[in-house]
Amino acid sequence: MRPTPALAAGGRTVANLLSATEWMLPSPASQVHTISVLPSQSPTPGHEFAFSNLTTSLGNGGGKGLAAGSPRFHVVRDDLLHPLANGNKPRKLDALLPLLRCRGATDIVTCGGCQSAHAAAVAVHCAEWGIRPHILLRGEQLDIPTGYNLISLMFGNVTYASRSVYAQRDEMLYEHATKIAGSNGTVMWADDIIGEDLVVDEDTTDGNGSRRVMIVKEGAGSVQALLGVMRLVEYLSGLTLFGQDEKVHIVVDSGTGTTAVGLALGAVCLGLQWRVTAVMLADTLERYRQQEKSLVSDFEKLYPGIFHGMVGNDTHCSLVQWVERFSPRRIFRTLQFAGIHLLLAVVS
Ligand SMILES: *Cc1c(COP(=O)(O)O)cnc(C)c1O
Repeated sequence: MRPTPALAAGGRTVANLLSATEWMLPSPASQVHTISVLPSQSPTPGHEFAFSNLTTSLGNGGGKGLAAGSPRFHVVRDDLLHPLANGNKPRKLDALLPLLRCRGATDIVTCGGCQSAHAAAVAVHCAEWGIRPHILLRGEQLDIPTGYNLISLMFGNVTYASRSVYAQRDEMLYEHATKIAGSNGTVMWADDIIGEDLVVDEDTTDGNGSRRVMIVKEGAGSVQALLGVMRLVEYLSGLTLFGQDEKVHIVVDSGTGTTAVGLALGAVCLGLQWRVTAVMLADTLERYRQQEKSLVSDFEKLYPGIFHGMVGNDTHCSLVQWVERFSPRRIFRTLQFAGIHLLLAVVS
């Protein structure tokens, strides 16, 4: 599938869309670290690795001088985005949170596993934005809270839900939101209000003190989450990390698959010949394909013409190459817990 920018020329472009969006993160910037594989100088076979931080040496040719022509990969250090809640989670909230706030959200309810990075990110970023975060965590309270669990506890109103209650996720979220809203408040699913032109008169929400509770589903796997990831792609494409003829291959680990779809959609809509391979960590190929289809079709509904303007109307092929993780799974798990979700490989 080859993007055809000419097709998009008359229509709305993704660049227009991104520049018109209100963002949570002050800047899309991320540090990008480069690992080069050098021929071994020692008699024993093997490789040597060289490390450089490209984003600190962008002034002098993107750091390519280090080992021009040698195989290399870049690590997008989104784990450094925020001291407490980082990785791709703030990317997924980047466009969503400002939108919910503009629609008058006073409270946000979401859920996740006991150590959910998504739950922690919602807790931290809502707290920073003056929205009350309510977090439903699966299982029981830890004796000694650590990691993302501790962060959720510090910034959010945490309630633990038994596994059987948690299994009925939507009912659990809705019931909890209804309790928070009380008799005067309203409850909405974030996904339902996204397409609507609801303008909130701030006076009425603040004046009568009634709550507007919005539910964000687990992992924030909604179309709005794609925008923040596409913003990252736009930022990376402007870094001059890569030569014109270089094929960029993005490798990303996938939970819900939202990040991978956002990356691939961003690349296509920006006219980049970037390939996205997503390592499936949590679900079956069938479910990831489904998720991709539904996100792309939601995106097309909400922002008509941008995607099909690039690929034409009859494109049904998959944007993301979904692959099984190869053993050891540990490597991806370790990266994931460190909040690193994105590797860019450059094939020269
Ligand atoms: C949440 C998370 C993922 C999964 O992202 P999806 O958009 O749900 O696929 C991958 N890597 C890291 C580091 C994460 O925190």
